[in-house]
Amino acid sequence: MSAPLHVPHERREQVAAALRARLPIGAVLSDPEDTRPYECDGLAAYRQLPMIVTLPTNEEQVLAVLDVCRELNVPIVPRGAGTGLSGGALPIIDGVVLSTARLNRIVRVDDYARTAVVQPGVRNLAISEVAAQYGLYYAPDPSSQIACTIGGNVAENSGGVHCLKYGLTVHNVLRVRVATIEGEIIELGSEALDAPGLDLLAVFIGSEGMLGIVTEVTVKLVPKPAAAQVIMASFNDVVTGGNAVASVIAAGIIPAGLEMMDRTSARMVEPFVHAGYDTDAAAILLCEADGTPLEVAEEIERMTQVLEAAGASAIAVSQTEAERMKFWSGRKNAFPAAGRISPDYYCMDGTIPRKNLAQVLTGIEQMETTYGLRCANVFHAGDGNLHPLILFDANQPGEFERAEAFGAAILALCVEVGGTITGEHGVGMEKINSMCVQFERAELDAFSAVKRAFDVPMLLNPDKAIPTPHRCAEFGKLHVHHGAVPFPELPRF
Ligand SMILES: Cc1cc2nc3c(=O)[nH]c(=O)nc-3n(C[C@H](O)[C@H](O)[C@H](O)COP(=O)(O)OP(=O)(O)OC[C@H]3O[C@@H](n4cnc5c(N)ncnc54)[C@H](O)[C@@H]3O)c2cc1C
Repeated sequence: MSAPLHVPHERREQVAAALRARLPIGAVLSDPEDTRPYECDGLAAYRQLPMIVTLPTNEEQVLAVLDVCRELNVPIVPRGAGTGLSGGALPIIDGVVLSTARLNRIVRVDDYARTAVVQPGVRNLAISEVAAQYGLYYAPDPSSQIACTIGGNVAENSGGVHCLKYGLTVHNVLRVRVATIEGEIIELGSEALDAPGLDLLAVFIGSEGMLGIVTEVTVKLVPKPAAAQVIMASFNDVVTGGNAVASVIAAGIIPAGLEMMDRTSARMVEPFVHAGYDTDAAAILLCEADGTPLEVAEEIERMTQVLEAAGASAIAVSQTEAERMKFWSGRKNAFPAAGRISPDYYCMDGTIPRKNLAQVLTGIEQMETTYGLRCANVFHAGDGNLHPLILFDANQPGEFERAEAFGAAILALCVEVGGTITGEHGVGMEKINSMCVQFERAELDAFSAVKRAFDVPMLLNPDKAIPTPHRCAEFGKLHVHHGAVPFPELPRF
């Protein structure tokens, strides 16, 4: 579907009138004054005013929006809190944004089954806040958890610092209710650990709003550990730090969190959060142990030994819960802190085999010279999930384009070492060209076929995440397979 450059007034009025006939007063916004707040998600460099925004309050109203859009052939962009970093909720000029902001009810918490049933617009952190009275919490904890919604988490298969031990969204969601473009409600998964039939729940989680609208989610809750402590280990160079991550995992330890920040990141966060970071170190690792007090003490001791043997230059262990939270608050506030040292930043998200961490960090360092831009590295090291923050100034001509090229080169390097172009932020609009690097045409065709099976008219978040053959041809497809790139003699960054 190719979008028009302008939406005729009559078309906007036709669609708005049809929606207003089915939704309560105030649930349909069509004045640009009102739709402006929806023009972008967390990837603010990409903006587009939507034709219309809808704010349904229940499942029936979600179905009404889908009915109208199907009948009038209008594309739909689902939206949670709009914290996504890949342009997944970026509106379409002639499309309707379907916001879940008013579907924000916690339906029930079952402390016996350790589950919670929630509407899609419920904030990630709100689930843990309610479950806390039962000594339970929802484990996946994106750094944006204070704002992002569970519907967005399902659509992106979001992760967080504790996902190394407790799994991503896909490992913590038991069941979703979905409104289909055909106007039906289907349930994927079940309240039990397994469900009969094809595992469509796993297909749906991470599908970026392209297969249906999530209207309800059943999540697993886990008991809050009795104790937790975190180690901050310093390293004199990033290569040693990267190798230390591999050593921890190779020692058979699965820390509750294993995160790395380079010196640029630590220095940008410290004056903002006062987390107590070692700002002289080239890199710091945060390694958390949780469990019973005895388990925590044992694991902290083992991790300390491994980190020292791997070349840590200093080790500090949190002695109180307040200190542990302080160590993590620095990591969790790394993205906003980038705003203190640079007018703009571009957050990339790629995943690599842990053994290649040092190699990729060195490659990124070389790219800083090639592209003439600084990059701060913050990442879920235990998962091999990188978040390079490319610092630029959008007011300087050409800097955003250079930042984009820098980001694409990082992703190509991730694929080259056997990794992927996304870890948890999705593909959206941002990485759609990089999909041509990662996948063969036959693989992309298989993704399109899955989309078409759920969405025959191709109205749900179209033109996101799956590139057309035409786009890949225009981009100049460079497919990297098992680390073997075509034309290896050509420079890639
Ligand atoms: C400061 C910051 C830190 C972050 N840290 C992390 C992190 O640690 N880990 C991580 O994984 N991500 C992180 N993110 C990215 C982002 O918060 C997550 O991707 C989050 O899951 C998006 O949720 P949202 O409600 O904001 O969704 P939105 O941004 O509104 O939408 C995201 C995608 O989900 C789709 N969608 C939303 N709701 C529905 C629904 N009900 N049905 C179908 N599709 C839907 C949208 O169409 C879009 O494609 C961070 C973002 C920021 C700004």
